[in-house]
Amino acid sequence: MARPYNFSAGPAAMPAEVLQQAAAEMLDWRGSGMSVMEMSHRGQEFGTILKTAEADLRELLAIPAHFRVLFMQGGGLAENAIVPLNLSRGEAVDFVVTGSWSQKSFKEARRYCTARVAASNEPDHHTSLPAPSTWQLGQDARYVHVCTNETINGIEMQELPDLRALGCDVPLVIDFSSHVASRPVDWSRVGAAFGGAQKNLGPAGLTLVVVREDLLGHAMQICPTAFDYKTVADNHSMYNTPPTFAIYMAGLTFQWLKRQTEGKLQGVAAMEARNIAKASLLYSYIDQSALYHNDVSVNCRSRMNVPFFLRDESRNDAFLSGAKSAGLLQLKGHKSVGGMRASIYNAMPIEGVQALVDYMRHFEKTQA
Ligand SMILES: *Cc1c(COP(=O)(O)O)cnc(C)c1O
Repeated sequence: MARPYNFSAGPAAMPAEVLQQAAAEMLDWRGSGMSVMEMSHRGQEFGTILKTAEADLRELLAIPAHFRVLFMQGGGLAENAIVPLNLSRGEAVDFVVTGSWSQKSFKEARRYCTARVAASNEPDHHTSLPAPSTWQLGQDARYVHVCTNETINGIEMQELPDLRALGCDVPLVIDFSSHVASRPVDWSRVGAAFGGAQKNLGPAGLTLVVVREDLLGHAMQICPTAFDYKTVADNHSMYNTPPTFAIYMAGLTFQWLKRQTEGKLQGVAAMEARNIAKASLLYSYIDQSALYHNDVSVNCRSRMNVPFFLRDESRNDAFLSGAKSAGLLQLKGHKSVGGMRASIYNAMPIEGVQALVDYMRHFEKTQA
């Protein structure tokens, strides 16, 4: 069954093998006589699913033992409130504003703490990354927030900032929603990481939080109990009913990730090699083209989300309808920036990116 290539920014394409396995297990999960959707979250079957998912994720991302993995709900936007409620103590927090998502995080945090902008690329219309050495960080900050992949603007931090080396020894909080599991994470530089699952891990409804143990237990009085990281951690993500089916689907994706190899590389390292190859195929085509352009500085272009524009914007609709006929779906850019966006997460094979480039070349020729 050949399916079209799906470039959605999220909820995004999932590996076909994962969907097929879920379909095969839909009515009867491994002889239990139940769908995963019908199981008690406190039962032995779901207990196994949850434990396996966490163990696989820890292995894939090399998460150290002094970090807790929390399976939550609410998405990235809820975390914009949940993080300050847990980590700010109502005091100062520094934000690096690099695009739409970090901007949203900053604005939401102002309801709960003294949110400050340490750096912003707004003067560049979100096309570059301010060098960490220029960030105005305060020693009194409870944490520093960055979005390591700006899904809408197509900007990715190729390296996590080393706050200690910048003379600011406070926890770094990263929103890694849209590139989690696409590359390794240097946990020595991280205090907490969060992300919605629907870009690179599974279906919507699951939010992943990875938080250093020593940061737990300082939630503000007004923090909802179900969103207090310590409560969630103490209850192994089962204080309330977790998003069971989404956790199961993410768990299948983790197993798929573990099976992936690229030469000698395995798992996330294999995905990273593929993601580099996919992104460079697309960007190099765009850069030599007379019709398309991408305006992000080369050193911070996202491997996951590639926004691009037609020099003749009146051709946008023709581009999109032709793409759809060619089996290339959901290429329309975010409404706030316009143009096109190709999201090429882990589940997108290089053949899909090649098909997109072939279509773009064909479309460009017909414009001459
Ligand atoms: C998609 C996304 C979010 C928002 O996630 P929701 O699940 O819609 O709340 C937050 N941050 C980033 C970087 C994202 O890509």
